[in-house]
Formats: sequence, C-alpha cells, structure tokens
Amino acid sequence: MSGQNEHVKCLIIGSGPAGYTAAIYAARAEMKPILYQGMQPGGQLTITTEVENFPGYPDGVDGTEMMDQLKKQAENMGAEVRFGLITEVDFTGPIHKAVVDSKDTITADSVIISTGAEANWLGLESEIRLRDIGGGVSACAVCDGAFYKGQDVVLVGGGDSACEEASYLAKMCSKVYMVVRKDYLRASKAMQKRVEQIKNIEVLFNHEPKEVLGDDAVEGARLFNNKTKEEVIVKVTGFFVAIGHKPNTEIFKEWLDLDEVGYIINQAGTSKTNVEGVFVAGDAADKVYRQAITAAGTGCMAALDAERYLAEKE
Ligand code: NDP
Repeated sequence: MSGQNEHVKCLIIGSGPAGYTAAIYAARAEMKPILYQGMQPGGQLTITTEVENFPGYPDGVDGTEMMDQLKKQAENMGAEVRFGLITEVDFTGPIHKAVVDSKDTITADSVIISTGAEANWLGLESEIRLRDIGGGVSACAVCDGAFYKGQDVVLVGGGDSACEEASYLAKMCSKVYMVVRKDYLRASKAMQKRVEQIKNIEVLFNHEPKEVLGDDAVEGARLFNNKTKEEVIVKVTGFFVAIGHKPNTEIFKEWLDLDEVGYIINQAGTSKTNVEGVFVAGDAADKVYRQAITAAGTGCMAALDAERYLAEKE
C-alpha cells in the first residue's frame, strides 16, 4: 500500500441509500465521514426509473434524483463525498487501511461498508438494451411491479427470489409466465407450494429466454424449450429477471466472514462484522429484503454502531 496517506475517523465505502444515510448520521455525530462513491455513484437505484415505495415521496421520485438529494443532504451535514473506488483493504490492526484507486492510502478508526449488490442478468443484447432505456426490463418486482397492473409479464428464475417475485407480481398482473430453465424449481418446498397455488402464474419449465422483443418497450419474449427444441413467443409488456444477486464484497473476503454467495455476515440485530470497528449496511449483507428503505435503515444503524464504538475507545 503506497501513495498519499490520510487519516479519518469514519470511512464509508459505497454510495447507495445505505452509504448516504450512514454519512448523514455520522456527519451529524461529528465523525467527519469521508465517503467514496465507488464504480456506480448512487448505486442500484440509479438504474431504476421511478421509485414509488420510499416514504416521503407521495408522487414517486426518479431514482437518480433521489440519490442526488441524499448526497446533497449528506454534504450539507458535513460529510465529504468523493469520486473514487476502494480497491484494497487491510483490516489487520485497530487502525483500518484502504487503498483508493489502487494508489493512495487512507486509514480510518471506523469503516462502514455499503458497497451493495448487483443483480445478475441473462446477458441478452435485447434485455440489456431495453433495461438501459427503461423499456420494461427489471430485476426488482417490488420496485417496478406496480407499473404492470393488469398486464402480462415474464419472470425468469426458479429460486426463492423468483418465487417470491412471481407471487408479488401475480397480485397485480393479469398473468405471470415464470420461465425456468430446468424441469424443477430450486426454491424451498414452501415457496414452490405457494407458486403452485396461484392461478395466474404459469410455470414454463425447460424454457430459456432467447430474446426480449420490442424496440422501445417490451412487447414479448422469445423462449426456447430445451426439451422439445421448439421456440415459443409470449406476448408481455414487462420482463423481470430474478436469477440471483452478487454482493460487491470481493475485496473484503480475506478479512470478513462472508456466506457462500459472498454476503457479509453481520452480528444479528447490529451492523457489526467479525472485525472490530468495521460495520456493514445495505445489500452487501442483505439477501432477503434488498430495498432502498431497509438499506437506509441499516445505514443509520451502522453510523450509530460506529459512533458508539469510537466513544468507547476514547
Ligand atoms: P438462487 O441462486 O437461489 O436462484 C437463482 C435461480 O435463477 C435458479 O433457479 C437458477 O436456475 C436461475 N438462473 C440462474 N442463472 C440463470 C440463467 N442464466 N438463465 C436462467 N435461469 C437462471 O438465487 P435467489 O436470488 O433466488 O436466492 C439467493 C439466496 O437467497 C438463496 O439462498 C435463497 O434461498 C435466499 N432467499 C431467501 C428468501 C427467503 O427466505 N424469503 C427470499 C429470497 C432469497 P438453476 O436452478 O437452473 O440454477
């Protein structure tokens, strides 16, 4: 680790609702936090369109705009928000080290990790194109399902998330085609049963999406039946993908306890990790809820835990 050295009381890594909320609380507690935004300033919400389920916005809010407001709020409270990616950490000692953009070193008495998670995508050209223009491709049914009230949608995946999201969509959509590449669901028995009992979910086993149809908005999906080798087209206006998430925790794996997928394991009911003075907030430790509001809530917890940790050390 080389380059310029700087020491801070509180270093926050990542800039979604978890990181900015932690920054607001830490700044108000006089911890002078420095937050590095990472690869995708603002996090996952900047690739969704309208956010309708964050309290305080009765008419909904654009995801990017909401993140800009959270950033401004953190800065107004005294947090310093910087461009830059933390590329390496060393959590050996009581003073924690981090490397910024592979060159400068920053040391910190406390660290809050809010690096989030990314949805996995199929990687189809049509899927990514329609996702990027807000044309009806989404990886979050709870965020975007309400835009498809009374319409037919596709939901890809056969795990617990897919079952949960299909059940959620079925409440508002006319029909949910659940596209599963194997001839069984990977989800728990309880979730499988729930899906079986919902009349407007049709599970298409042995089907793989080959193309999302539509130029500016989803009009359908071309699916390949890997058993019969036939193709089928379903007419839908929404295309949801629920094939797992990848937490952004690679640089911490040497130091922190992670589960088999890579989520950071926190001590129950707190934001504490297995390393003293290192806390976690948001999706980097949450594979169940994954919402902006829960991320913000755990961001608050992490800043309060860090503040108490620093107070005890003084
Ligand atoms: P999973 O990894 O469990 O499931 C992913 C699903 O997507 C599988 O059905 C998989 O198919 C499918 N898939 C993966 N890649 C592709 C692809 N390229 N094309 C088509 N299908 C694909 O992820 P989840 O997000 O569902 O769950 C992650 C973890 O979180 C699990 O441990 C789960 O139990 C847990 N969870 C718990 C919940 C709860 O307790 N309420 C709610 C949600 C998640 P295949 O089976 O063929 O590999």
